[in-house]
Amino acid sequence: MSLFNRSVSLFIDKIPPGAIAPFAKRYIAGPELRDAVNLTKKLNSQGAMTTIDVLGEFVSTVDETIHFRNLAIRVLEEIDRNKLDANLSLKLTQMGLKISKALCIENVEKIFEKAKELGIFVRMDMEDSSCTDDTLEIYRTYRDKFNIGTVLQAYLRRTIDDIEKLSDGRLNIRLCKGIYIEPREIAYQEKDIVRDNYIFCLEELFKRKAYVGIATHDEYLIFHAERLIRKYQLKRDEYEFQMLLGVDEQLRKIILNRGHRLRVYVPFGKDWLPYSIRRLKENPNIIKSALEGYLK
Ligand SMILES: Cc1cc2nc3c(=O)[nH]c(=O)nc-3n(C[C@H](O)[C@H](O)[C@H](O)COP(=O)(O)OP(=O)(O)OC[C@H]3O[C@@H](n4cnc5c(N)ncnc54)[C@H](O)[C@@H]3O)c2cc1C
Repeated sequence: MSLFNRSVSLFIDKIPPGAIAPFAKRYIAGPELRDAVNLTKKLNSQGAMTTIDVLGEFVSTVDETIHFRNLAIRVLEEIDRNKLDANLSLKLTQMGLKISKALCIENVEKIFEKAKELGIFVRMDMEDSSCTDDTLEIYRTYRDKFNIGTVLQAYLRRTIDDIEKLSDGRLNIRLCKGIYIEPREIAYQEKDIVRDNYIFCLEELFKRKAYVGIATHDEYLIFHAERLIRKYQLKRDEYEFQMLLGVDEQLRKIILNRGHRLRVYVPFGKDWLPYSIRRLKENPNIIKSALEGYLK
């Protein structure tokens, strides 16, 4: 990472929200559910599927969890009403995981029930490592009863063990590198090792006949994913690629043109700041290019 990028990454949290907003826009559909619905219609017409995410983190009261639970249910109803090619992505902390596990389970059960009634898939996002055990336990408990999946992160040293442990049942996994800052004891710090572990875990998932959401914009990983898809002779509907809204639209078109299925992660909501900061830290070049344009 260049000196400029490292400095931007360190200071992004200090930039006022008003100044971040112009850079953040690309990563989110807008403040309202209708923004996510309209964007999904557009992406569907371009051949891409979506997964809709309600933005909102650091939930600390029961009422907030109920608000977010009801909003998630409205997302499911709108997907159904508009016949969208979309599913739901869900953060367990938003459902109250950090308040009480019982509350979280009560909320997610209601969402899973509604999703089952409407025939819509729900994916539980993976948050920082303090949530890994609980997220995987909830996945394991409910995976036979509902149409759900979760996420594994290639930067975690434990991920290969988790794949083995979860192999005693249906596996529907989004595989990503991982976005949270984790200590060396539990997470690989070297980019190349994370890549190697991604390829290793992807192959182990394919061997176990998992349905994998291959979530990356890294062309090196996409090359290896295509190699493994051929090696295991997977049919088009036995995996999917996944990308974030606002990231490398050219690559999105390339993947679709190669005949793969691809899903775009579409977040919406008023609480856009923490998500956008994570995205900008991932790629401070966006701020750099904007500044260069401004200074020209
Ligand atoms: C659909 C989806 C869902 C995800 N869900 C989770 C989750 O549940 N839990 C979790 O921890 N992480 C999640 N992530 C994030 C993931 O862990 C990575 O942090 C992120 O995808 C960047 O890694 P990469 O594989 O694209 O590789 P990178 O090496 O980071 O990126 C490869 C290239 O993609 C482009 N790029 C990447 N990020 C950006 C950006 N923000 N802005 C502009 N360009 C960019 C750049 O050109 C970069 O060189 C998800 C990612 C995707 C695509």
